[in-house]
Amino acid sequence: MNQWIVRTGWIGVLAASAAVSQQPAAPAAPAPAAAPAATQPPDVKIDTVSIAPGIYMLVGRGGNIGLTVGVDGAAIIDDQFADMNPKIRAAVALLSDKPVSFVINTHLHGDHTGGNDAFGQSGAVIIAQENVRKRLSVAAVNATTNQTTPPRARAALPVITFDDSATLHFNDDDLEFTHLLNAHTDTDIMVRFRKANVVHMGDTFTGGFPFIDGGNGGTLDGFILAHEKVLPTLDDATKVIRGHGPLGNKAELQAYHDMLVVVRDRIAKLVKAGKSQDDVIAARPTREFEDKYGGTSFNAAQWLGRAYVDQKTALEKRKKKK
Ligand SMILES: [Zn+2]
Repeated sequence: MNQWIVRTGWIGVLAASAAVSQQPAAPAAPAPAAAPAATQPPDVKIDTVSIAPGIYMLVGRGGNIGLTVGVDGAAIIDDQFADMNPKIRAAVALLSDKPVSFVINTHLHGDHTGGNDAFGQSGAVIIAQENVRKRLSVAAVNATTNQTTPPRARAALPVITFDDSATLHFNDDDLEFTHLLNAHTDTDIMVRFRKANVVHMGDTFTGGFPFIDGGNGGTLDGFILAHEKVLPTLDDATKVIRGHGPLGNKAELQAYHDMLVVVRDRIAKLVKAGKSQDDVIAARPTREFEDKYGGTSFNAAQWLGRAYVDQKTALEKRKKKK
């Protein structure tokens, strides 16, 4: 049996679709990428928010981290930027005398996986949807900037991957991982603590308008469908961790979903009427939501531009079918 299963005492039951990878993707790749670099001075403190017994949200720089500590040790959901690693370890050490034994990635982005290198090197088992490993194993070219991101280092790659779903039995709870198709990216999962009634939505739910990463398989329709898959499984007591932003709940996720439906339908109507991408952005389909979700980083052209492309593609597909 693998050493880490013995070491952590993990029961090791995963869904039938789960695959255990012990080897890096062949063949030899270009020099591994350094973990994503800092974009701000690294003087950020980790804020530890208690959510349920043994479950916390760690807020620092990058995506919100979910943390479970207990009899089996510590596991985290997402690990922010590489330079946050010592601070994340210190925050965990205040709550557990055991190191992080599992890292779950909600999706591939560097502000959620930047700590993979360090945690992987120190023996944590990284778990993710299989597209995370596929995408991080190869160089990626940004279609807008034409910049190439080299493949991530071997230690940063998930070693346990799954297609649709998997479960980690840890700290007397069941952590259920569910793939959310083509939403923020094509690598997104939701993580549910079944007993504690806590979910981590990754970047399919944030405090602002969505970032639709079309280059990595994201679509606006996928965001909406992801919420429609998750919402019926939540109740009013469910604690909902956003990828970025404050701790949320079901009503807030529902409102976010409803906003996206309104904006999507407006864009679809304009696309159907033959309007251009510039027309769609100029029509401000987000108008009454901008105060709530716009924030300082609101970039209408970025996400509405992508939403326009999605809706145009969807319309063309429907026409072809007829
Ligand atoms: Zn992201």
